[in-house]
Amino acid sequence: MTQSDHKKMLAQLKVKKPKHGKFIKHNAPKERKHGIAKFCCKICGARRGFIKSYGLNLCRKCFRDIATEIGFKKYD
Ligand SMILES: [Zn+2]
Repeated sequence: MTQSDHKKMLAQLKVKKPKHGKFIKHNAPKERKHGIAKFCCKICGARRGFIKSYGLNLCRKCFRDIATEIGFKKYD
């Protein structure tokens, strides 16, 4: 079950309080301690191509988009 699916399900169950509680108890995704699923891009939420260096916490695509704005220089 992906994270986005879990949130959609919670929106559907908002009107049914008892079922909402049961769903959270049994189906909430567990907190990841390590591995690729722990980190996601803070802009787009992607898990692939993740850059932790310099405290960026971005995927490679978002980094390419905003690199010059942050202060990185591109050398040809
Ligand atoms: Zn991204």
